[in-house]
Amino acid sequence: MDILKFGGTSVANAQNIKLVIDILKNKKNKLVVVVSAFSGVTDLLIQAAQKAAALDNDYKVCLQQVNQKHSNAISELINKNHQETVFDLINIQTSQLRTLLDGCYLVGELSLRTSDAIVCYGELLSSLIVAEAINQEIGNTSFKDSRSLIITDDSFGKASVDFEATNQRIAAFFDENKSQIVVFPGFIASDSKGQTTTLGRGGSDYTAAIIANGANAEILEIWTDVSGIYTANPRVVKQAKPIDYISYQEAMELSHFGAKVLYAPTIQPVLKSNIPIIIKNSFEPEAKGTYISRQTISNGNPVKGITHIDKITLLTLEGSGLIGVSGSSKRLFEVLSNENINVIFITQASSEHSICVGILNDNADAAKIAIDKAFSLEISQGRIDPCIVEKGLCIIAIVGERMKNHQGLSGKMFSTLGKNNVNIRAIAQGASERNISAVINEKDVKKALNTLHERFFEDNTRQLNLFVMGVGNVGEKFINQINQQKKFLRDNLKINIRVIAISNSKKMHFDEDGIDLKDWKTTLKNSSDANTEKFISNTKAFNLRNSIFVDITANKSVSETYNQFLMQNIAVVTCNKIACSSDFENYSNLKNLSRKYNTPFLFETNVGAGLPIIDTLKNLIASGDKVHKIQAVLSGSLNFIFNNFNENSTFHDVVKEAGVLGFTEPDPKIDLSGVDVMRKILILIRESGYQMELNDITNESFMPESCLETNNNDDFFASLKAKASHFENIYKEANDKDCRLKYVAQFENGKASVGLQFIPKDHPFYNLEGKDNIVLFFTNRYLDQPLLIKGAGAGAEVTASGIFADVIRIGNN
Ligand code: ADP
Ligand code: ASP
Ligand code: MG
Repeated sequence: MDILKFGGTSVANAQNIKLVIDILKNKKNKLVVVVSAFSGVTDLLIQAAQKAAALDNDYKVCLQQVNQKHSNAISELINKNHQETVFDLINIQTSQLRTLLDGCYLVGELSLRTSDAIVCYGELLSSLIVAEAINQEIGNTSFKDSRSLIITDDSFGKASVDFEATNQRIAAFFDENKSQIVVFPGFIASDSKGQTTTLGRGGSDYTAAIIANGANAEILEIWTDVSGIYTANPRVVKQAKPIDYISYQEAMELSHFGAKVLYAPTIQPVLKSNIPIIIKNSFEPEAKGTYISRQTISNGNPVKGITHIDKITLLTLEGSGLIGVSGSSKRLFEVLSNENINVIFITQASSEHSICVGILNDNADAAKIAIDKAFSLEISQGRIDPCIVEKGLCIIAIVGERMKNHQGLSGKMFSTLGKNNVNIRAIAQGASERNISAVINEKDVKKALNTLHERFFEDNTRQLNLFVMGVGNVGEKFINQINQQKKFLRDNLKINIRVIAISNSKKMHFDEDGIDLKDWKTTLKNSSDANTEKFISNTKAFNLRNSIFVDITANKSVSETYNQFLMQNIAVVTCNKIACSSDFENYSNLKNLSRKYNTPFLFETNVGAGLPIIDTLKNLIASGDKVHKIQAVLSGSLNFIFNNFNENSTFHDVVKEAGVLGFTEPDPKIDLSGVDVMRKILILIRESGYQMELNDITNESFMPESCLETNNNDDFFASLKAKASHFENIYKEANDKDCRLKYVAQFENGKASVGLQFIPKDHPFYNLEGKDNIVLFFTNRYLDQPLLIKGAGAGAEVTASGIFADVIRIGNN
């Protein structure tokens, strides 16, 4: 005999029930079919009962919805000539249900016993309809009300099974029953007096296991809406995968810690009789599913799954009165037990100074009152503090039979959480060593589950979540580069990059599942208006692991937001130079935040676009070298301009062209005034370990005052035209001296300067082509022959690739 249980979604409507019948058609053995209520019906019935008891007339609306669902199913499933009979059968049930609800409304009260008498109609109605439908399609099918076989105590809402009585009745029933298929309602049972009880929410799985055990079935099949027990809840962790094999113990541990796919008590009855369970997907019957048996079949990974329980409250009892006083914990647990409060999590400090337990939020208020009352004497004497209540928490757990044989798993778990700024409130390791659990803030649960999943199951693949602000010239190239390299990075570096947000000055768009980069421009065009504050608050609210804020603007106000990201453990990658060249105090504050929160703050492209200048410098300093002197041409734009400016061109036209090619800042004055170069050398000086401010740098400007005094780009370009002869003279002078013009930045003996220089033929800067940059570092190790870094120092494509390199640095870290 095979026992098949179909969950609420599997029997949600006529269409799904037809799939169920297809599954049954392929079976050979005698079948027991256990069904849940149609999806959502149990909730509706509870709502109806509560409304009726609260004298809210809307209970009739809920009842109407329940009736509608079942009528629809009958109309679609049952042949016309038989519909009336089935409707008659159902109407008897629904009129009893209505009478019960009306009764609640009249007396304005709802006991647990009445609640069970009401919710049982969910399973009764569904099983009656499903039995009729199966009989019509396959034949030889009977219906049996589980309440006449499964006997429990009278703990209404979640009754305990009397297995002796139950097993006897089940055996007797199957001795008699000769149908090929028998359909049972799940979830419902009765006490010794024949009153309806229920087995707890999700209890239809348990019904199936009880019958499997009583009837000594060959297999228990749980048919649901996912293809087995996954390594984590697939609705929260997208990368989760079905587990092929799992032991009873592991499955029990996972379901106790929140894997709702299997109701926790289900394992117990079949474990005794060693009946295997298979979890299958009604909507994908060919998928393998999860096989649960006594054996632990290892796939090499000591961790089998990750789970969580939400809506947790932590109660802490502490005080000197607990030390050395035997029986304090016993008293605490007795108080909770008397209140019928289930304790999910326990830790006690070895000092015995405090005991901490985790319970469901719903029980928190009652627990606090009961505990404070029970310990009122100690509290009044000041030996114990009143019970501390912390709500809004959640428990996460990693589970696996073989965890006990592996060292370092908890270290791995907690360092992974720590790196992602998940604050851990309490920790417990089950005595069985089959699980390690921690209490964290509810807001962090998704991030925690995903990071842990990545760490334990995803072959060390790291997901990076990018929030990109500024998708202009450089930003566009950056996005395109990511799109091109995505697959390579995933396959070769095990880095999975997702762009969660993009914004330009007009629009912004967020997608928690990652924006499709093929058509991001259209997506952005059709999205909401840009708003920096909202962008930041959304980025924080997503609370995703390995989040990176990428600033590709040249905007001061954006540069002033970095501290907010770093403090939230969101890395910052920026090509915007403003932050690092602002007041030293701000610069060092950002560096400190990055250290304190262990969160990268990278700005390689602040100097020399994609050239690895800052990273090289960092490595020099980290390895103990000291920089004495820096000489550099750091402006790709100025280099381009002076390389192209000659007797055949005007200064105005060359500057214009540099702008069109994207080699200058949006405001070209920032380049031509030397401010941009000042910022760059300042950043190199600071990264070399010196403290300096921007106005400590001498700027010997080659620009006429009148050009620098303009207020917008149009006026500026007009002034370049007006002062054409000034620029021609500079060129002529250099040419006469057989020199080239280079805009040079220098640092030596603690002093820095920038300015245009005549560079003779024998100087390493003389042949600097196009928009190239060059930096010479004179250090302890590179004393006579400086360390030289040279290459393209401007341009959208190389800048974008420099930003990309910073992102990859974070991924590789
Ligand atoms: P049914 O109505 O069929 O009994 P449930 O809703 O009770 O189905 O259980 C299935 C659901 O369990 C899935 O849709 C999924 O959201 C949830 N779930 C939680 N943890 C896990 C897990 N580790 N693996 C699979 N599903 C899980
Ligand atoms: N219908 C019940 C519930 O929703 C039992 C079940 O579905 O397993 O909790
Ligand atoms: Mg279920």
